[in-house]
Amino acid sequence: MSVFSIWKRTLTAENTVVEGVRIDENEQCVVVSVRPDARRRQRCGRCGRPAPWFDAGRGRRRWRDLDHGVMRVFLEADAPRVDCRRHGVTVTAVPWARHGAGHTYAFDQQAAWMASECSKSATAQLMRTSWRTVGAIVERVVADRDRAVDRLAGLTRIGIDEISHRKGQKYMTVVVDHETAKVVWMADGHGKDVLDRFFDDLGKQRTARLTHISADGAAWIAQVLAERAAGAVRVMDPFHVIAWATDALDVERRASWNRARRQAADPDTARALKDSRFALWKNEADLTDRQAAKLTWIAATDPRLHRAWRLKEALRAVFTLAKTRPTAALSALDRWIGWARRCRIDGFVDLQRRIRRHHQAIRAALTTGMSNGLIESTNTKTRLIIRRGFGFHTADAIIALVMLTLASDRPTLPGRQPATE
Ligand SMILES: [Zn+2]
Repeated sequence: MSVFSIWKRTLTAENTVVEGVRIDENEQCVVVSVRPDARRRQRCGRCGRPAPWFDAGRGRRRWRDLDHGVMRVFLEADAPRVDCRRHGVTVTAVPWARHGAGHTYAFDQQAAWMASECSKSATAQLMRTSWRTVGAIVERVVADRDRAVDRLAGLTRIGIDEISHRKGQKYMTVVVDHETAKVVWMADGHGKDVLDRFFDDLGKQRTARLTHISADGAAWIAQVLAERAAGAVRVMDPFHVIAWATDALDVERRASWNRARRQAADPDTARALKDSRFALWKNEADLTDRQAAKLTWIAATDPRLHRAWRLKEALRAVFTLAKTRPTAALSALDRWIGWARRCRIDGFVDLQRRIRRHHQAIRAALTTGMSNGLIESTNTKTRLIIRRGFGFHTADAIIALVMLTLASDRPTLPGRQPATE
């Protein structure tokens, strides 16, 4: 077997002829001279159709390929131009790389795999490229993969969430399929216009097939849903309701702390209340011994704050009960509303009003048995990925990274079969 055919075998490129291999001493890299084979020559880079020759273009070009041993590898070839009937003068297509890309398919594929599996710095270091370049690669890999996929087909139960990033100044809108917990649509920005765009993309027919839509309690969401998807049941996201209760509790904790601080005689109580935040936030079942002791202490020294904590825990219990006994959860919710109405703690009196305002959507959350845990974990993952995508050049690259990881099966490594389990 000749050296050229060994090189040909190590490349994942199809329809490619290896003409030579050399070391570029200046660049300290391996340069593999290649050309498309006879069947792939002289095709338009945009549509792939055969087209008449135009000129030699800008001469030889290089594409970064996967490393060989410790050295970087570049494929090098002529890049002539053709005159396509549809696209005019265009650089010819090459079988080893996407049109306009400076990296081979194999390089793109490995960078995309790493971006979805590894940290930002591990990806950039191992691929010897910038995180920004990884962003551009992820964008073109996802665009290619999704060209023939209709993620909005067959949806019946969806969840809409707005995810804030850059310290709450900017938002992205994410739509998740409740059946699969996959992200099906995403856009930069939030508000009525963005959500309208989603329903435009979805179209009337597919919108008519939606049975349930979960979202937070924002008035504008309710308004858009009433206008665009009146046939679907609006369902409140339980984790938003729990978050309201946690916020109400935190207001109460701070008020208690300020009261204790003002009574100058009581600096220890003030300090202890200040550190009690985590004990008050956590699920009762997840408390450490120290946190449980802190709650016992709060019960003895600040019965009002302890009552607020019990209200929050009781509301959480309503949603836990719904998983096994939805009907019982409905009456538990009404008992909770009665309790909160009479509790004389302003934050929770307000919260019960808010819950009554969204009564129908919350009741729907208790009875439809939608897999909110799955959606919540998808949202948590989306937040993490958005944060990882910060170094990218554009919001589109951040969105592509989310879609790469959470819209379908994760990418595979080049030259490997997808795992069969
Ligand atoms: Zn063309």
